[in-house]
Amino acid sequence: MGSKLWNKLKNWLKRFFELEKYDFERVIIDKEVIDNIVELANQTLPKEFIAFLEGKARKKVLRIYGLVYQEYFANPSYTVYKFDPPITSSIVGSVHSHPGPSNRPSSADLHSFSKKGVVHLIIRMPYKAENIQAYDKNGNRISFEVVNSGK
Ligand SMILES: [Zn+2]
Repeated sequence: MGSKLWNKLKNWLKRFFELEKYDFERVIIDKEVIDNIVELANQTLPKEFIAFLEGKARKKVLRIYGLVYQEYFANPSYTVYKFDPPITSSIVGSVHSHPGPSNRPSSADLHSFSKKGVVHLIIRMPYKAENIQAYDKNGNRISFEVVNSGK
């Protein structure tokens, strides 16, 4: 077996097991989390805001119910994920802001996405709920629903 093919297989297996671990078909995000992202992104301007997403998968639905954030390190031109997420199994992905008109992931973003988490959000300017886009770890766009957490 060529090493290219072997790498492909390894990636496929890795992906399969990660999907198994989370095993979801839909992503739902609590409205509270969306509101917090919008607020924090605006507060952090002109710098980028970065946080981790807390959630869990149940009955094929991945629900994101919390934000974990701490002091971030940001550069005006690119984002560096300087800190590691807290050691908890509930971290399912990340969110960060783009102080510009695009919410497409940069190559640095794609590198970070592939390292940890299954859902990554990017909010672009103007910072509003409808300007949040979700991506999977390979940078493919994924859709999500927003629900009222009832709090
Ligand atoms: Zn970015």
